Amino acid sequence: MRINFNADVTQAIAPARFGFADRIACVTFPMPELPEVEIFKRYLDATSLHQRIANVDVRNAYILKGTSARELASGLKGRSLESTRRHGKNLFVRADDGLWLRLHFGMTGSLEYSKNDKRAPRHARVVFSFANNRRLAFDDQRQFGQIELLKDVDECLKKRALGPDALKLDLTKFKKILGRRRGAVKSILLNQKLIAGIGNLYADEILFRAQIHPAVEISRLNDKLLTKLFRATHYVLRKAIAAKADTNQMPQTWLLPHRGKGGRCPRCGRKLRSATIGGRTAWFCPHCQKRVTPAIF
Ligand SMILES: [Zn+2]
Repeated sequence: MRINFNADVTQAIAPARFGFADRIACVTFPMPELPEVEIFKRYLDATSLHQRIANVDVRNAYILKGTSARELASGLKGRSLESTRRHGKNLFVRADDGLWLRLHFGMTGSLEYSKNDKRAPRHARVVFSFANNRRLAFDDQRQFGQIELLKDVDECLKKRALGPDALKLDLTKFKKILGRRRGAVKSILLNQKLIAGIGNLYADEILFRAQIHPAVEISRLNDKLLTKLFRATHYVLRKAIAAKADTNQMPQTWLLPHRGKGGRCPRCGRKLRSATIGGRTAWFCPHCQKRVTPAIF
């Protein structure tokens, strides 16, 4: 069945018909990055917009940032969620009074839309109940997620000093941001203040596709390699979104299905290696991803 994310909002009260709500409800993405958050955005768009919020149940205020449980409830009760906007790993949801809800999924955050009488997921931290007997639960076992109420998205992005969204960057801007940096290419890709949205898994995938070793000093990349890196970034993120961020639907030629101990490179068959770069575990193929890249200008 084709999933119609842009379906008429009146259909949103029956999310099961999308065949999507149920699937995602029982799937948690480990460490949501840009593609996963984009899928959450589409899920929320397809299920939770234009319904009056009857109640906001904060079950654990730990994930609330700069907003109290009372402020969250009084800011949203009687309102409805009208539209969404994603920037990097942040999902912004606009309520009909102009207030915005910021959702960050941390390590284990996920959404579940369901009938109100269905028991909320085990680690539901905030449950938004709608007047039509449906509810949206923000579930987060590890509690690295964040929920915040704010007035201005652009101001929030500025305050957090987030770089441009990885998918909204063009080649010129990409080169401009990366071209003047120092450090391991993977650390640069992970730096949300330079480019927002790329996390550990997709950074490895992007570098595998571009055939660049994750520890390569970024200033060693010439114009051609920066272009290759840009194309790999767009390709990997877009393809992951098309696969609904489901590893099982990602190509076997990717690193992701093979990533981990004992994994072999899908390109050359040699054993994959790992290393700690920028405080995170990088997986790569030492044969296909050259460590020393000559700078050719
Ligand atoms: Zn290889």
